[in-house]
Amino acid sequence: MLKLTFILLFSAVLSFGIDLIKVTDSIYMAKGEYGLPSEENRGFVSNSYGVLTREGWIVIDTLSTPELAREFMEGLKRIKEAPVLYVIITHYHMDHWFGISAYKEAGAKVIAHRNLREFYEDGSADMVLEAVKKAFPGVFEGVELSPPDIVVDSPVKLRVGRKVIEIIPMTPAHTNTDLVIRIGSVLFVGDLVSYKRIPFLGDRNVSTKRWLKVLDRIKEMKPGLLLGGHGDPMDLEAVDWTKSYITYVRENVRRMKEEGLFVDEIKEALRDTPFKDSYMYQEFHMRNVYSIFNELDTEL
Ligand SMILES: [Zn+2]
Repeated sequence: MLKLTFILLFSAVLSFGIDLIKVTDSIYMAKGEYGLPSEENRGFVSNSYGVLTREGWIVIDTLSTPELAREFMEGLKRIKEAPVLYVIITHYHMDHWFGISAYKEAGAKVIAHRNLREFYEDGSADMVLEAVKKAFPGVFEGVELSPPDIVVDSPVKLRVGRKVIEIIPMTPAHTNTDLVIRIGSVLFVGDLVSYKRIPFLGDRNVSTKRWLKVLDRIKEMKPGLLLGGHGDPMDLEAVDWTKSYITYVRENVRRMKEEGLFVDEIKEALRDTPFKDSYMYQEFHMRNVYSIFNELDTEL
């Protein structure tokens, strides 16, 4: 039922580079393609959201490059000529904040988890940038990283215009930098929730055990609409779907480990699963199995 409502709410807004989609009266989105960054998709593989307040725009996630970020901003300005006041970054993966320099130039304040600043300051962010420039040639050449202006590690409320924006750290889960943003009944969930798109469980700071608890917490918040880092707007069914995938991988890997199987045998046994028709299965699933195999060794 909710899905039908989404479709009715949707109406594409014409823009030059990136098509913006109207999600609610005050929320617009850019919906990236499914897949890994490539020259063809220009790294446009994730979502970005603009929230219109009486004082200006608030943006959730920057997209992968400053070029894409500028196109998104141009789209927002066509809807309403107003400054971008804040950009909130849901987590430290490249497709969510590597467009940061465009927003810095536009004078926006960037808000992120405290651990994202550490990630920048200890040099890890630039190492990741160098690695993805090699892995995905022709996509990230224009990226220039810089630290967030404001960092959070406990829930905070931001008041802009008449809107109250709650920023709630939920770490560690997908990464150690995950922020959930609540505006009324809308919850921006980054990559914590997805629907029929395999989540990436292989981050070095992942905790799938805690991630499952985070998903319960998200459910208890009873959001009416979930807006994620990839794919279409979602309802609570997506939380159950994400839980079922993570639980499936965890429980099967655990059982086979206990039976004494080696990692390669477990990977082979879990190559084909009920989730195999989901987006990003080829790209992420085997890495997820491998990552959970290791995670279970060190889990508290
Ligand atoms: Zn991510």
